[in-house]
Amino acid sequence: MQARTVPFFRPDITDLEVEAVSQVLRSGWITTGPVTKTFENALADYCGTERFVALNAQTNAAELCLRLLGIGPGDQVIVPAYTYSASCSIIYHVGATPVMVDCGPQSFEMDYEKMGQAITEKTKAIIPVDLAGVPCDYQAIFEQVEGKKALFRPRTDLQEKIGRVAVVADTAHSLGASRQGVPAGAIADFSNFSFHAVKNLTTAEGGGSSWRTIEGVSNHDIYTTFMRLSLHGQTKDALAKTADASWEYDIVEPYYKANLTDIASALGLAQLKRYPAMLARRKAIVDYYCDRFKGLNVSWLEHQGPTFESSRHLFIMNLPGFSEEMRNDFIRRASAEGVSLNVHYKPLPILSAYRKRGFDIEDYPQAFARYENVITLPLYSSMTDHEVDYVVDTLKRLL
Ligand SMILES: *Cc1c(COP(=O)(O)O)cnc(C)c1O
Repeated sequence: MQARTVPFFRPDITDLEVEAVSQVLRSGWITTGPVTKTFENALADYCGTERFVALNAQTNAAELCLRLLGIGPGDQVIVPAYTYSASCSIIYHVGATPVMVDCGPQSFEMDYEKMGQAITEKTKAIIPVDLAGVPCDYQAIFEQVEGKKALFRPRTDLQEKIGRVAVVADTAHSLGASRQGVPAGAIADFSNFSFHAVKNLTTAEGGGSSWRTIEGVSNHDIYTTFMRLSLHGQTKDALAKTADASWEYDIVEPYYKANLTDIASALGLAQLKRYPAMLARRKAIVDYYCDRFKGLNVSWLEHQGPTFESSRHLFIMNLPGFSEEMRNDFIRRASAEGVSLNVHYKPLPILSAYRKRGFDIEDYPQAFARYENVITLPLYSSMTDHEVDYVVDTLKRLL
């Protein structure tokens, strides 16, 4: 049957997920417990890291990462102007100061020369964003932070062990992506994933961190610190306290609450089992879009190249020559024809929160140039062939 309306997104949930969640609901233990630990181990295997910590959102995972590193007032953290607010808001949450970097020419990634120039004695971390599932040029990022090593002033033991500005990637989009054969999660110093409902792999709400082994630091200690930061600074989790006569505990600091439930983890584990097939479906759709839009006056963010493979989270397309107004009108006309489009992202400096903190889009001309004529097409593993065809036929007609 021919599609007449195509939603921007629809979650890909099968009986496998329903059964996995039901099992946890019937098990007698529904919050953080054995299923979450299994999910964490499966994610560590998938990312090629020793450990993975599952938490209740990418935003909280990334914030706790900054806290773990001891980043706070007086420190600067570099972030792209072209991203979602969550990449940057966490810098304010910990009391540090964000320093925004514009996109490179023709690129959605940061201008890495400008990024290097933005590093000062106050810089403690950089948050690159794997936009749309495309891993950033981490080689360029590491070259810049290594080159500025002499400026680095560590304030904590962990910062000192890292010995330079830490690379804390926002990998909300890039689970399953790779660069030079290294999976997202094992490239940056820390990587923070999202399992939000609209992401490639979902637990409805959820996220987590992986990290590369740091010389002289035990991965178990990092994991334990994450556990305490995410559970009130308590020395035992709820499950451990239910064991015979094990009620006794201490609170080491008045920390935060960001743990993931076993219900959510069961959903995530079922998704992870299906994930290779889900990624393959995304690839087939992206390849089809590229083939059908070839030759038209449009360009798109490439999802594969000699050095990288994307997780194909978003199909981002630029309409050259379109003003912001023409782009918005195009989205309205597509919507009237039943095709729901989106924009990823409004650069942070045009949002009220960042404007009133002194950021001005005039200082980020490249980010604005990417934004003004950009559209995001529907792309999800539960899309039917008819839906994909309807999107292509409708957009080609409107163009
Ligand atoms: C979704 C998203 C986040 C936040 O993820 P949550 O799990 O919802 O906290 C952060 N950064 C980017 C780029 C995102 O798309």
